[in-house]
Amino acid sequence: MKNEKMLLIPKIDLGIVVDHIPAGMGIKILEIISQYEEIKEVPVSLGLNYESRRLGKKDLIKLQMEFLSPEIIQHISIVAPGVTVKAIKDYKVHSKVVVKAPQEIRNLLECKNPNCITNVEKHVETHFVSLGKDCKQVRCEYCERVFDLNELHTLVD
Ligand SMILES: [Zn+2]
Repeated sequence: MKNEKMLLIPKIDLGIVVDHIPAGMGIKILEIISQYEEIKEVPVSLGLNYESRRLGKKDLIKLQMEFLSPEIIQHISIVAPGVTVKAIKDYKVHSKVVVKAPQEIRNLLECKNPNCITNVEKHVETHFVSLGKDCKQVRCEYCERVFDLNELHTLVD
């Protein structure tokens, strides 16, 4: 009964649901997901402004694929910590994970310090460590500079 609202967009027998996205963030998350090659051919449904007891309004995304890679989940976690990633099998929720703000972000963000080794030596993977629980500020593990998370570009862009 509590899942009736989920029927508003098609039920899937196998797939991934990114749920509890704060309303207004669904399109942003979809943009992020769409950058990844593995998503290019996947059927996707986007639901906007669904009622949610927890959030008031929420967005959700359904992907007809079996598995969402850790890289994509990490990328989502930076933009919208607290979303739920559910794996659906035989129309039922098979597993679900609440995505937390990451404590460490590897090989996803570009360091803004032009002299940083990660910019000079392109094969060196970037590595940032979150300075607070909410992941608003991060420190580059190589040059030790501190940045606001939203000022850093992702390497996928
Ligand atoms: Zn750096």
